[in-house]
Amino acid sequence: MKTYDCIVIGGGVVGTAVLDRLAFHDLATLLLEKDDDVSVGASRANSGIVHAGYDCKPGTLKAKFNVRGNHLMWSLVDDLDVPHLKCGSLVVADKDNKAGIDELYDKGVKNGVEVEVWDKQKTMSFEPNLSDNIEWSLYAKEAGIVSPYQLAIALADRAVLNGAEIHLEEGVTALERKDGLWVVTTEKSQYLAKTVVNCAGAYGADVNDLAGAEHYETSFRKGEYYVLDNTERQNVETVIFPLPTKAGKGILVAPTADGNVIYGPTSHLCDLDDTSVTLDGLQDIRSNVAKTYKNPVVRKCIRTYAGVRTIIGDDFVIGESKVVDDFYMAIGICSPGLSSAPAIAEHLENLIAGDVALKDNVVTRLPRAKRLSELDGDELNTLIKEDEAWGRIVCRCEKVSEAEIVKAIHSPLPAVTVDAVKRRVRAGMGRCQGGFCATRVMEIISRETGKDITEIRKGKKGSNIALYSVKEVPND
Ligand SMILES: Cc1cc2nc3c(=O)[nH]c(=O)nc-3n(C[C@H](O)[C@H](O)[C@H](O)COP(=O)(O)OP(=O)(O)OC[C@H]3O[C@@H](n4cnc5c(N)ncnc54)[C@H](O)[C@@H]3O)c2cc1C
Repeated sequence: MKTYDCIVIGGGVVGTAVLDRLAFHDLATLLLEKDDDVSVGASRANSGIVHAGYDCKPGTLKAKFNVRGNHLMWSLVDDLDVPHLKCGSLVVADKDNKAGIDELYDKGVKNGVEVEVWDKQKTMSFEPNLSDNIEWSLYAKEAGIVSPYQLAIALADRAVLNGAEIHLEEGVTALERKDGLWVVTTEKSQYLAKTVVNCAGAYGADVNDLAGAEHYETSFRKGEYYVLDNTERQNVETVIFPLPTKAGKGILVAPTADGNVIYGPTSHLCDLDDTSVTLDGLQDIRSNVAKTYKNPVVRKCIRTYAGVRTIIGDDFVIGESKVVDDFYMAIGICSPGLSSAPAIAEHLENLIAGDVALKDNVVTRLPRAKRLSELDGDELNTLIKEDEAWGRIVCRCEKVSEAEIVKAIHSPLPAVTVDAVKRRVRAGMGRCQGGFCATRVMEIISRETGKDITEIRKGKKGSNIALYSVKEVPND
């Protein structure tokens, strides 16, 4: 049985960020993820905002890691070639709620965040499509947007290039101490580890229980969204929040790093893994967006989705267990967990690998990916001469070529399902939502992996799309 220096449980943005940092050191590292890809939990379905950190309660772990995470984020996403835009954010208020803006300003100053209070004229000149009743705003220039799933994927890719291992579809089912090591049992195998880091998101408290570490009660809050067509992007400059409430940061209007616009999220208590989108949730979004944004256009919706926040008490749970040895936790990572992930990873790296030497010749910058949608005619023609697959457009909505899909399939963490390809290169993310390209993507995955077309899945186990060749359909 192989012994690892560290096993990370869970491949969300937190687990992949931790793995990425540990992989810079002379350590044998492994990430175990129960699902078919990294970034399939909360890290896939959120708002993608890199918060500045003005609204976290001063003195909390959320405040500390959000502010530091924001500072680390912008060079990280540049190094990893992850779509992003530092577009700032506005919290807006009508004339009766200036006190809420002032309160946020004070918190921002206490947290060390650069914030400004703007009057109506300055607010409207920055974001002209706000509702007429908006009189005040809090502007935070350090805020912005990233593609959250592409961030986790790129962190995983860099970690693999730096020697880490990632095993997908290997949920951890048992954790035991034996001779000063952890015996980590999964659905498929067993491993030994000197240290374990629990980054299991919604299942974080369960993994703690498996290890006999601190016991926590968890609750879940669902956030539902509208995604609008990219033609709406020109109408939204920045991230527009209402004043926050006890339930969260409120229903926002925001651009996405990939060029769409989102309205959402709601915030309602829900069951574990309940990612259903409901009529009530969508109605809640429509009525709240109209309070801050002048002309909501839900008829431009191309998709809806929902993500689930995992809540343990009022703060993140981060650090070393006081109950069991060599066991670390980053759990209860609700919002602003995406923004905080680089700082959480830095903190755990210092605790786990502080004294361990850095490897030589590590990969720090991922190569800039060529994207057909960003190329001019001459650049494209040059690429087609090198590889004809650049000339075959598979996803017409998002303009994705076969060459990009082939590259994703052979990336350090290979994309071998239709959804994994979609998260990496956007084939299927556009207006037709894969109606035209999904079967082509399946054929390309089948050809590149040597698997029969009936083995190609949408995502999770059991989501195979083609069941038989038409001529083979059984009669009964
Ligand atoms: C609606 C919504 C909006 C949000 N908006 C923002 C935002 O704009 N900005 C921001 O900063 N934050 C935001 N967040 C918070 C952010 O998304 C989360 O904090 C972050 O994604 C948590 O990452 P994670 O890695 O802890 O969890 P996850 O992404 O859920 O990853 C945990 C992983 O562990 C795996 N796992 C679980 N159990 C096991 C096991 N036994 N063995 C192996 N693997 C296991 C899961 O399959 C999963 O892949 C939002 C969250 C939601 C839900």
